[in-house]
Amino acid sequence: MNYVSTRGNTGGVASAKAIRLGIASDGGLFTPEQIPQIDISQLEGFKGKTYQELAVAILGMYLTDFDKADLAEMVRAAYDYPAKFDDLRVTPVTRLQEGQYILELWHGPTCAFKDVALQILPYLMTKSSELLHDDSGIVILVATSGDTGKAALEGFRDVPGTKIIVFFPEQGVSEVQRLQMVTQEGKNTYVVAVQGNFDDAQNGVKEIFGNEEIIRKLRENHLAFSSANSINWGRLAPQIVYYFYGYLELCRGNVIQLGDPLNVVVPTGNFGNILAAYFALRMGLPLGKLICASNSNNVLTDFIQDGIYDRNRRFYTTISPSMDILISSNLERLLYYLSDCNAGLIKDWMDQLKRTGRYQVDQGTHSRIAAIFYGGFASEPDTKATIHRIFAQQKLTVDTHTAVGVSVYQRYQQETGDRRPALFASTASPFKFNSSVFEAISGEKANEAEIALLEKLASFSGLKIPGGLKNLDKKEIRHRTVCQKEEMGRVVQDLLGIH
Ligand SMILES: *Cc1c(COP(=O)(O)O)cnc(C)c1O
Repeated sequence: MNYVSTRGNTGGVASAKAIRLGIASDGGLFTPEQIPQIDISQLEGFKGKTYQELAVAILGMYLTDFDKADLAEMVRAAYDYPAKFDDLRVTPVTRLQEGQYILELWHGPTCAFKDVALQILPYLMTKSSELLHDDSGIVILVATSGDTGKAALEGFRDVPGTKIIVFFPEQGVSEVQRLQMVTQEGKNTYVVAVQGNFDDAQNGVKEIFGNEEIIRKLRENHLAFSSANSINWGRLAPQIVYYFYGYLELCRGNVIQLGDPLNVVVPTGNFGNILAAYFALRMGLPLGKLICASNSNNVLTDFIQDGIYDRNRRFYTTISPSMDILISSNLERLLYYLSDCNAGLIKDWMDQLKRTGRYQVDQGTHSRIAAIFYGGFASEPDTKATIHRIFAQQKLTVDTHTAVGVSVYQRYQQETGDRRPALFASTASPFKFNSSVFEAISGEKANEAEIALLEKLASFSGLKIPGGLKNLDKKEIRHRTVCQKEEMGRVVQDLLGIH
């Protein structure tokens, strides 16, 4: 299986190279030249597999240059219960209400769905270096809206031959998220607060990736960059697995029969998670509509509706901060497939986005998008009301991101009358966003600091505080660097000592 750049100038690399590089040299994203296909009889065969076995089967279809036994070993280590995930099923499915099910993606060490990919990415990355006979040190640069940073730090912590530098927006993450990152342990971990929003941090990282001078200095020091953001194919591929798992779980529970369509609802920011659902659909998993749920930063809602991507709008800081994004990087991969792999066109649109903040896709591409996806958004009051309603009616506590999905789906059903069963990607533990969740379920104002609230949320909801979030306030603060967005390149050189 070959990986090509969405912008066309880098052709045909194996998955190890795509993962090791993270991003193509022309600025495009590596993406599979063809999407592997499965049929119903193969799907039937998947029914008997555990999560780990399913992961080996599906990753094996994409990472064809990896040895199957190596993949099995990496999967075993990454999804170990109870060392890494606190549920044997890795991504268990629970019932929300009639016809609506929740795919719990937050049972990993940092309590968000990103663990599913970031627990295995370091193995994929170091194995890729091995396959490529490349022994230079790997420097992972990450821009985070909150959850990626911690999940990547935890995944790469003390992995030999790697260093990881994480930039987060100083005012753009929850207190729990911030503490998770600044208390990070590990000899190879660096965490920096940027005075700006997520897009500033992400643009800064993209600029460093393309900075010839820094890259040359890195090379002189026998180092090379890679990315742990969802622009890296090694982040995307592991996420395809859980859509299969969720579908098969519902088959095993006799909620659906093999072949029945299942709608999938995904709270979306960078378009990585929902793109994994698109890959599952294109592979042959019988999914129905893919519901792209946004918060007030509703660029994608507008785009799916009218084909115009326009980031020139107010940026909102919301109670679902991991979706506070105006440039959804992974959309580029979708556009590549839906424009008949027309890399020239993608390059034009991305150039326009960079120059003017806006582009409009042609009618054919837009109608193909609208046939597969529904876009909607939930305001902050909608989101809180949804958390409240779910708690009152179902005695379930969901986080703010998951609630955005549920709220958007309610509107979708009202508009369309679609009664097919639905699977909601639940992207974070409610404890990660506890003040908003506590206020929504209790109707009380949360006066305590977020950390003190963990206990309160636990007793109110009847849930246990996840191991990864306990005692956060007692841990030593190990990272205090703050910088302006223009200084990120210099900070990277300082931290690596490569002036
Ligand atoms: C990252 C994140 C999202 C957004 O996922 P994308 O793949 O960027 O679309 C949603 N919810 C939570 C909790 C996240 O951490």
